[in-house]
Amino acid sequence: MTKVALITGGTRGIGLGIGSALTKAGFDLALCGVRSESLVGQTIEQLASRGQRVLYYQADVSKPEARIQLVQNIRNDFGSLNLLVNNAGVAPKQRMDILEATEESFDWVFTVNMKGPYFLTQAVATWMIDQKKQQPEFDAAIVNISSISATVASVSRGEYCISKAAIAMATQLWAIRLSEFGIPVFEVRPGLIETDMTAAVKEKYDQLIRDGLIPQSRWGTPDDVGEAVVALATGLLRYSTGQVLMVDGGMTLARL
Ligand code: NAP
Repeated sequence: MTKVALITGGTRGIGLGIGSALTKAGFDLALCGVRSESLVGQTIEQLASRGQRVLYYQADVSKPEARIQLVQNIRNDFGSLNLLVNNAGVAPKQRMDILEATEESFDWVFTVNMKGPYFLTQAVATWMIDQKKQQPEFDAAIVNISSISATVASVSRGEYCISKAAIAMATQLWAIRLSEFGIPVFEVRPGLIETDMTAAVKEKYDQLIRDGLIPQSRWGTPDDVGEAVVALATGLLRYSTGQVLMVDGGMTLARL
């Protein structure tokens, strides 16, 4: 049976790169985002052009009722789910020094980046466990997209860094909890990836890359992240649950 993947934030940026790589690997896709369906129709058509089934759900992962409805809709439309990719995320609307940053921004970033995926994982994992009980050979896995900001401190966006550090712990918690059911959980930690999220700081990082910031000396692409997710989703790292896969061109390697 064709495997089904849910990618949150799957219609642009890194999520779209993951979706494109997963359709090449034969997955059907359930994608969600906050934009209305009319704005993503063309992207959905392109993703479906390889013959895979691709459905879009407008669902804000920070809202409990939207998460429950999303999982119910996927149950109704696809009947099974093999892979959850917690990719949706936001950066602070305004970068602010942690001496001045607001609780409002902290709550928003943390709820979208951390609380949403944490409880979506709870809902999906419960369903995956049921599927595994009915059919032990059923393939299931969960991948969290965090960031090098889980360990690299940026004092002008503390709330983002903390949310990504929390995702790293959530990955370990879920990896341990779901291991008895044969459901691996992984973390993919991208570096600088060229997307809408990084558009505002493109020139700054172009210069830093020219100055040697990244050993592989270029921006990462959504496809770089997508291919890493495919490696995890297709069972190439079978004995590595809970591990982190860096996709950062070597940026965080310690150097002298
Ligand atoms: P992006 O281009 O800004 O896209 C973000 C995606 O998340 C969009 O599809 C958006 O949906 C979706 N989204 C945002 N809030 C949501 C919500 N409340 N509910 C559901 N979907 C929501 O960002 P990106 O660069 O692709 O980043 C994707 C992930 O990678 C994020 O978790 C980010 O933190 C992480 N990351 C990015 C970089 C980088 O350099 N770009 C590096 C490390 C990690 P709509 O399309 O509907 O707006």
